[in-house]
Amino acid sequence: MFESLSDRLSGVFDRLTKQGALSEDDVKTALREVRVALLEADVSLPVAREFVSAVQEKATGQAVTKSVTPGQQVVKIVHDELVKVLTGEGEPGALKVDNPPAPILMVGLQGGGKTTTTAKLALRLKEVNGKRVLMASLDVNRPAAMEQLAILGRQIEVDTLPIVPGQNPVEIARRAKQQATMGGYDVYMLDTAGRLSIDDALMAEVEAVRDVTAPRETLLVVDGLTGQDAVHTAENFDARIGISGVILTRMDGDGRGGAALSMRKVTGKPIKYVGLGEKLDAIEEFHPERIAGRILGMGDIVSLVEKAQATLEAEQAERMMKRFQKGQFNMNDLKSQLEQMLKMGGMEGIMGMMPGMGKMARQMEQAGFDDSVLRRQIALINSMTRRERANPQILQASRKKRIAKGAGLDVSELNKLLKMQRQMSDMMKKLGKKGGRAMLKKAMG
Ligand code: GDP
Repeated sequence: MFESLSDRLSGVFDRLTKQGALSEDDVKTALREVRVALLEADVSLPVAREFVSAVQEKATGQAVTKSVTPGQQVVKIVHDELVKVLTGEGEPGALKVDNPPAPILMVGLQGGGKTTTTAKLALRLKEVNGKRVLMASLDVNRPAAMEQLAILGRQIEVDTLPIVPGQNPVEIARRAKQQATMGGYDVYMLDTAGRLSIDDALMAEVEAVRDVTAPRETLLVVDGLTGQDAVHTAENFDARIGISGVILTRMDGDGRGGAALSMRKVTGKPIKYVGLGEKLDAIEEFHPERIAGRILGMGDIVSLVEKAQATLEAEQAERMMKRFQKGQFNMNDLKSQLEQMLKMGGMEGIMGMMPGMGKMARQMEQAGFDDSVLRRQIALINSMTRRERANPQILQASRKKRIAKGAGLDVSELNKLLKMQRQMSDMMKKLGKKGGRAMLKKAMG
């Protein structure tokens, strides 16, 4: 799967990861190549563009991590962005099959793998979910297709609706519903007819079947090798029929994996499964992490960087804890706490995690303290000199005015900040004396 895209990307990143320090130009050049690789894999232009600029933005603001090269860090950023682009809402593969008998409508173009996938899903529902499944073919124009489903049903030991010549798709769908209800089936799957291209007659037929069965899932089966065509097919079916998810087939081929990347972004519909071969167990839930790993083919580097980042954070936390134990808490400490809180997106954040500070956080919240306050406080700290940050008690009235002005704020805001820092510092001293080491350690994870 994705061999060509993965090969291309590996080439780009192999060159990057060997270098020690990366310049902005290195990153730019590499990302230009990434863009070309994405386009060649038939990812749509807006998606490729957006992808590359998101990576660029993150790569630029990266903190330097010890023990991995900048190139390796870029690989990790690309990986995370791939996961993000591939991630849809809900659990991968989860199908709504409650309220038996639950109808599942299978739609798609001819040759996309619809009939095979119907049998694959039926087998999974039977074996993994323990469901009783009935399958029915609605392809009245191709008796061979009906027979094909019957043969697959016998192979996987799943019942198929007996073929009654001369019935139209809606009649067959009604009969399937009736038999599923009477026969105590959990799920009935309707394998609709495909055409070589989307046409009105096909859509009208599928609509009619949808209206008499009210499917719990309408799954579009498309050939993953067809790139943007697959995405267009999904848009068309969704506009006319309304689909609940997509199954990409032939993802075992070394084709252009672009469909997977564009599908989510362009259609807003989740990819639920991927087909990985002709055999009836060759289907897998769609896991963004797994697919991103395959596209990039650089799992080792990704986990290396993850570990290094975790180590870095642990080191920072350890350093801070040592300072707190000594009762030290200056403006630099406060700044990193404020930044942390911003990152965690809320007041309860880190303060709530620290002993005694939950109360302070709540008080601050009541006093109208929010993210914009955090940002203003960080701005105030930024306009102090290094010496002042380390020793805020040296600040004289004139300097206070200058600092507040530098941050575009009132002196009263700076005084509030100084008071907060003093209170925190006092608390650290108390904690340090009371042997609050264990408490601190716990609070800081
Ligand atoms: P339909 O016309 O959409 O019902 O397509 P079929 O189910 O008849 O499939 C067409 C061909 O594609 C068959 O030969 C299948 O074995 C093959 N096929 C289906 N899914 C996959 C897949 O995930 N990988 C591969 N390699 N072949 C597949």
